[in-house]
Amino acid sequence: AKNDGKNRYEFYQAHFSEALHARLNNEQAIRNAIEMDEFVLYFQPRVDAVTGELKSLEALIRWQHPVRGLVLPVDFIPFAETSGLIVDLGALVLEKTFQQLAQWKALALPLVPVSVNVSAKQINQGDLISILNSCIERHGIDVSLLEIEITESSMVDDNLLVLEELSAMKNRGIKLLIDDFGTGYSSMSQLHKLDLDVLKIDQAFTRSLARGQKGEAFFKAMISMAHALGMHVVAEGVETKEQLELLRALSCDEVQGYYISEPATAEEAAVLIKRQFLL
Ligand code: C2E
Ligand code: CA
Ligand code: CA
Ligand code: CA
Repeated sequence: AKNDGKNRYEFYQAHFSEALHARLNNEQAIRNAIEMDEFVLYFQPRVDAVTGELKSLEALIRWQHPVRGLVLPVDFIPFAETSGLIVDLGALVLEKTFQQLAQWKALALPLVPVSVNVSAKQINQGDLISILNSCIERHGIDVSLLEIEITESSMVDDNLLVLEELSAMKNRGIKLLIDDFGTGYSSMSQLHKLDLDVLKIDQAFTRSLARGQKGEAFFKAMISMAHALGMHVVAEGVETKEQLELLRALSCDEVQGYYISEPATAEEAAVLIKRQFLL
């Protein structure tokens, strides 16, 4: 009988979360959340692997849901992508990024660049540059404080419009980062064409990093290729001191991950900006 109760509980749990999932993932729910200003940005530091110097803060979106609490991107970004809502959400993230930079500037904090995750759909829409121009003008923030992260998989289509928009941004002085590197199928020639600044190696590779193993060889090869092309390399998902030390020995330029700092609220980030990261 006890077991029955447990099964029933699990049954309700599953249905409850399914229902919630359905409620979260419909167009009206997300539009409503935009209207109610329920989306917030968290910021995760990216630091120099040797000196610990703060290089950038990555903006990561969260949904501060009135019932469910803090909802992570995995629970709404995929739906936003397929439904096209990512275009509006993406514009919102840019607006909030510039608002935040302007606020830190008003507090006389030393400003560091913020990197923003941009979906290929958002770039395909074609008006990303005008949205950017508007943000820069209205908030009085230098364009060099913005960095754009685009996933490797979104470049695979060899989409000309995406390539053109990216090089237009690059020409404006915006740093371009390729995200989740190693999980897609982009060719080296494509990377070279784009004149990218930073290669972010996916956290799956960091996880499998161990001395003398294939993971180490992969990093070594990627780092030497990136350096030959004038790019910096970031290792994502660094969780241990051992990983950090191996990455340093491999001349990895920058690191990001829980070992350095978890994504922080804007208030916490304001403290991190002033702090020295001791690695
Ligand atoms: P991403 O761009 O690869 O971001 C890194 C993710 O790894 C973040 O998850 C971050 O919290 C997590 N992470 C950081 N360090 C560690 C670590 O040491 N260990 C582990 N296990 N995880 C770590 P998050 O914030 O849940 O974001 C997930 C994904 O959602 C992002 O992956 C990105 O693809 C997408 N995303 C987040 N914000 C935005 C946004 O504003 N726009 C778009 N288009 N996508 C976004
Ligand atoms: Ca990213
Ligand atoms: Ca990534
Ligand atoms: Ca990822």
